Amino acid sequence: MAYQICINPDCGQRYEVDQVLHSCEACGELLDVDYEWDLLPVPESLNYFERFRFGSFGGVRCFSGVWRYYDLLPFLPLASLVSIGEGRTILQDAVFVSSYVGIDSGRFFLQYEGLNPSGSFKDNGMTAAFTHGAFVGAKRAACASTGNTSASLAIYAAATRLMEAVVFVGSGKIAYGKLSQALDYGAKTIQIQGDFDDALLKVRQVAREAGIYLVNSVNPFRLEGQKTIMFRVLDDLGWRVPDWIVVPGGNLGNASAFGKAFIELSKLGLIDKIPRIAIINALGANTLHQLYGDGEAGKLRWNGGRYDKEMVKNFYEKMTLESRKANTIASAIEINRPANLSKALRTLEFCNGVVREVTDQQILDAKAIVGAGGLGCEPASAAAVAGAKLLVEEGTIGKEQLTVCILTGHQLKDPNATVAYHGTDQNFFKNTLGKFNVTSAQFANKPITTTDEQNKILYPDR
Ligand SMILES: *Cc1c(COP(=O)(O)O)cnc(C)c1O
Ligand SMILES: [Zn+2]
Repeated sequence: MAYQICINPDCGQRYEVDQVLHSCEACGELLDVDYEWDLLPVPESLNYFERFRFGSFGGVRCFSGVWRYYDLLPFLPLASLVSIGEGRTILQDAVFVSSYVGIDSGRFFLQYEGLNPSGSFKDNGMTAAFTHGAFVGAKRAACASTGNTSASLAIYAAATRLMEAVVFVGSGKIAYGKLSQALDYGAKTIQIQGDFDDALLKVRQVAREAGIYLVNSVNPFRLEGQKTIMFRVLDDLGWRVPDWIVVPGGNLGNASAFGKAFIELSKLGLIDKIPRIAIINALGANTLHQLYGDGEAGKLRWNGGRYDKEMVKNFYEKMTLESRKANTIASAIEINRPANLSKALRTLEFCNGVVREVTDQQILDAKAIVGAGGLGCEPASAAAVAGAKLLVEEGTIGKEQLTVCILTGHQLKDPNATVAYHGTDQNFFKNTLGKFNVTSAQFANKPITTTDEQNKILYPDR
């Protein structure tokens, strides 16, 4: 009742659920997981899911904030699901941050995915990919990663022992919080020369040749799990559909999964409104923004699946010729060749979406505001908040519109960026942030250093 299908409407090749593929063998396009919905027990309304209350003893549907919505991603039998308690996240009514963004209090929310077991939204997808890998009998799983995918794969391997984890990370690029997780959880960690785009190319090749299961977001099963981030947003809003979803764009897996979630909910008659989506690139990794633009004509569009592949090819060739490399403090979105570009275009069409880019300065200022509001996040996540602010300023998002920003990763993932921004050490600031054109820290909460005079008073006996 579930199958894989090529998203190219001129191809539409189908594959079985237990086939392991990263792209269509006939035409090279990405694959979707799809369902024969009329043969499946689809709930009549979203309220149905309220019966699965969180807890450790109600089975996997109550333990997991992903598998709670099993009826909307039923690609394998219930009995085969793997879970470590992912997706038990919160939607914060972010009053303090809302005034920074310029949206009315009570209309602005932060979906905090940092609460996942490995500290990022990646666990939503990993539980689904890991379930599939284990089901097809794979012994080893691999990924290329800017850090969070590797942390996520590593924690599933450690906690379940179902597959061994092999992670490929770009040298010198990975934030220490993330690298420390892969090492601590015992993943085989391979630091390659190059950046994420190089690492993904390498791991796709290695995975194919060595028969290792690939868990990057080109894996269509992973994106099924990531749909549930949207289900939880609706759930926490009492099944209201927001006006806007704002998400950072890196490899564009989330953007792809969110669009698919709304396409399906709408097709199944479970929602009667489609939210708009805003995908936010970092200026130093802005391929989607360059190709899609701010909404002007002549730019790349999904076009019912017949998008301009030449335009993409030429753009990528130009990047190669110029040896252009992605460069941003938001390391989780430091990606110039987003693997899910075509699916993200589909999302943008269905959700009447927009794409914007923000500078590293805007990202770090927004990050400081998110922290001051009581939920920390890593730089990439703050891109969504900086993007929302930009969209309100230009009048695209109305100040009364119900808006949800996805905070994709936990604050402790990248402590260097945080300490450099708030700290007093000018050299550390320059070395850490200077190379990203970050020059000021207007929301810095500088630590106070005591003077010799004060020390005499504080410690009279020294
Ligand atoms: C992976 C990641 C992203 C990028 O998400 P995509 O789905 O690849 O666009 C953004 N933020 C964080 C914290 C991430 O780990
Ligand atoms: Zn195809």
